[in-house]
Amino acid sequence: MKLAKLLLLVFLGTCVSAQVPTSGKEVDAVYSDAHALYLDLHEHPELSAHENQTATKLAGRLRSLGYDVTEHVGGTGVVAILKNGPGPTIMLRTELDALPVEEKTGLPYASKVHAKDDAGHDVPVMHACGHDLHMASIVGTAAIMAHSKDTWHGTLMLIGQPAEETISGAKKMLEDGLFQRFPKPDVGVALHVSNAFPAGKVGVGSGDRYANADSVRVTIYGKGGHGSAPHTTIDPIVIAATTILSLQTIVSREVKPGETAVVTVGYVSAGLKNNIIPDQAELGLTIRTFKPEIRKQILAAVARIVKAEAEAGGATREPLIEHYESTDAVYNEPALAQRLRGPLEAALGKENVMDGEPITGSEDYSYFIEQGVPSFYFGLGGAEPRAYAQAKEAGTHLPSNHSSLFAPDVDPALRTGIAAEVAVLRNLLQGSAEELRKSIGGK
Ligand SMILES: [Zn+2]
Ligand SMILES: [Zn+2]
Repeated sequence: MKLAKLLLLVFLGTCVSAQVPTSGKEVDAVYSDAHALYLDLHEHPELSAHENQTATKLAGRLRSLGYDVTEHVGGTGVVAILKNGPGPTIMLRTELDALPVEEKTGLPYASKVHAKDDAGHDVPVMHACGHDLHMASIVGTAAIMAHSKDTWHGTLMLIGQPAEETISGAKKMLEDGLFQRFPKPDVGVALHVSNAFPAGKVGVGSGDRYANADSVRVTIYGKGGHGSAPHTTIDPIVIAATTILSLQTIVSREVKPGETAVVTVGYVSAGLKNNIIPDQAELGLTIRTFKPEIRKQILAAVARIVKAEAEAGGATREPLIEHYESTDAVYNEPALAQRLRGPLEAALGKENVMDGEPITGSEDYSYFIEQGVPSFYFGLGGAEPRAYAQAKEAGTHLPSNHSSLFAPDVDPALRTGIAAEVAVLRNLLQGSAEELRKSIGGK
């Protein structure tokens, strides 16, 4: 009895230190199924918060693999749990939604889907951000993890999050009790495909990954009248024009050189006819930052400039400034990024693990981090390697995410996504939850 106990302890000790690397054979075994799902999802995309068929497909696959699946979490959200003894709880997240973009890739499986958006307009729909690849990858990963329960222990929590593109799905899942109805994870993991790297590679970095994003709407109030008699009016279009130019001095003149900050006026809306001076003008801004103090500085500068330009233009009423949407930066726990680099190198080859740079895009994955879930968010290469090399040589850019031409090089990107996710999960699903939390400096 005593000897058996001792042997068991030795065995468990070995399990903790020696991670089973993802083998090419394991990925091969699940690839054709994951690839078929990818083609299906790509051809049948759905808009944010309307991912009904998508969620059903994902839930069905995960259920058939033995996961305990709950649907309709925060709208169309899916939560799939696989328990495998004591140990940490690790969450892996994929998004479900596509975009109102007309696909122009010319691929045989290109989307021809049209749908009604929330405003009732008929719009084309395309998986132009690669969330279809993330879903296919998570299903491949789910299969490998379900078939190799001797290589890990703990609780695996896979989530399919709706409405990432409208920065609302993560919040909705949390409001629907994601971390109360289901276990709160010790660590969260997510990936995103892009053309920043060639397919076959991943990008890893620590600290800030995605920026704080703030959406601001400005309404400037003038006094309309005849285009031939500007002296009887207060022209909000001229005030809007000077405001736009002055806003561009915030980053160039007020923010310390070297700090990351973006102020973009993405739309200007005013007037209907050339000989009418309108009553008001509207500007739509997006502001991107990493540091909270820079974020505060910029938002204050926007308000100051908008008010001062309106006053300088003789506006009779103070402009309306609405901060209508925001999301925080996605932050990679440095200890996690450091810990997971090795297993990724072992699974993919050292040359295939690159340094990922922070980007000024935004992601509502940050809502999970805000709940106190230390996280590891990494980049997945999507670019066809030869096209990537040629673009680099020529100093040009391949189509970015959200482009009508965005088309990841599915094989090897999907294989790499699966191999990387399995490597990361197997590494984290070892030892106890306490040990894991301690190793990343948590409570
Ligand atoms: Zn996107
Ligand atoms: Zn995306």
